[in-house]
Amino acid sequence: MADSTGRKPSLTSRLARAFKSKSSGEKLRKKSWGGPETRKPSISPTTATQTGRRSMGSAMRPDTDYYTDQIDIQTGERRDDTELLHSLAHTGSFDSLNQAFKEHVWHKDSPRGNELFSQLPQNVWEIFVSHLTLPAAASLALTCKVIQTRLGSDIFTILNQPLHREDKISFLLLLDSTLPKHLLCYQCTTYHRRTQIGHEKLKATSIPNPLYHCPLANEPTPIPLNHRLIPSHRLPFPFTQLVIRGQRYGPSYGIPADALSRRHRPSSSPWTHTLSYSINSGHLLLRSTSSAFAAPGLPPSGQRNLLYCPAEDYTPYFSVCAHWRDGLLMSLCKCALSHIPIPPPPITTQLHAGPAITLPKPAGTIVTLCSNCRPMRRCPDCPSEYLIELRFTEDRAEPVPSMRFKQAISVTRWADLGDGSTPVGREWAAINGTGEAYESFEHVGKRGISGVFEQRNGVTLPGQRMLSLNPKGERLGEEGDGWY
Ligand SMILES: [Zn+2]
Ligand SMILES: [Zn+2]
Ligand SMILES: [Zn+2]
Repeated sequence: MADSTGRKPSLTSRLARAFKSKSSGEKLRKKSWGGPETRKPSISPTTATQTGRRSMGSAMRPDTDYYTDQIDIQTGERRDDTELLHSLAHTGSFDSLNQAFKEHVWHKDSPRGNELFSQLPQNVWEIFVSHLTLPAAASLALTCKVIQTRLGSDIFTILNQPLHREDKISFLLLLDSTLPKHLLCYQCTTYHRRTQIGHEKLKATSIPNPLYHCPLANEPTPIPLNHRLIPSHRLPFPFTQLVIRGQRYGPSYGIPADALSRRHRPSSSPWTHTLSYSINSGHLLLRSTSSAFAAPGLPPSGQRNLLYCPAEDYTPYFSVCAHWRDGLLMSLCKCALSHIPIPPPPITTQLHAGPAITLPKPAGTIVTLCSNCRPMRRCPDCPSEYLIELRFTEDRAEPVPSMRFKQAISVTRWADLGDGSTPVGREWAAINGTGEAYESFEHVGKRGISGVFEQRNGVTLPGQRMLSLNPKGERLGEEGDGWY
């Protein structure tokens, strides 16, 4: 570009012009890419600056002129690269595409779907249905009146037979998302209307708490419909249904997982329990932490008295899976109890024996468990993980202030309660000791149920070895002699 004197402007003057302040009050305006302004031939650097288009790279190149570079030699128009790029994108509406689709795919003379179905010969329908499962065929029969007429009602008669109970449950579960005010009952394979919609609360086992009216509610059932948590507290299966439905379809279908969380401090036992729930990948996870103050140097009878609940057939006070009698769980608890340090006798008593005395360990001593009872353990037959700890905790019921802090044994169990679809589901059946064999070290991922649960609560568990709770693979149950 030449100025009025015919000389090319120096680099300094061009930079100064490019970045000079807008004293004239003209503001930088974003230019519309398709507006007529961009078509206006403009070769003045001042105009380019006013329209907000600056190029540091060109301004610093003394041998070329940005503005003249952008002018088409043939037409004299200024080329706009930004405009060029934007013009490649789709800018109109998609109406034309919809129009084209209607014209080419759907024609007003095309037969309607149900007319098309009614024209198919009966044997084609029979071949078609023979390739479907019973729940899929029943779902197909419900899609429209034409198909229902062609398939008949035989499918539903077959589905209602006791032989096809599992197929009926699979079919009914397909309707779950359409029935927020009902709950599928596994006693009579029927949807019952919820009687406490949105107010369902977990209560102690002794308190009647039906979620719907079922004529078979008091009948015995071959499948476990509740899972023991702690003494006098069980988790009925309908609560897992409610929590999973609420998370899957919306609040009107159930209750949040937190609504099940509880703290229990029963007066009948020395244990306190904290039960928390969480949902991960459509599965309800449980964490149950139970703790009790333990005296040092307990004899075997004292350990049993602390660990087992006589009112519940000597089941442990804390939450356990159905396989607790097999394996090491109880012996590990006893091992942990044996690590509680025994305080030395009073100094005066020690002095009777000689001048050497042992001072009591300072309060707050952390007891390290041995390599046997410290690692986390996973039940090989169900999705349950256990961690045994000794915690130095304040006993507020202790009248002597100097004795208030004591060692307490704590047993934490993490369990996967399944996806709440059916009580014969893999996880629910496994923790209750029914169903097919469950290989937990194959099914549970590397992080473990405990890792997943704690990470969802924002806690990262320290690296722990995960060992088998039953390394010898014993399956003796009550017949075994090591559990008591
Ligand atoms: Zn029922
Ligand atoms: Zn130990
Ligand atoms: Zn188990």
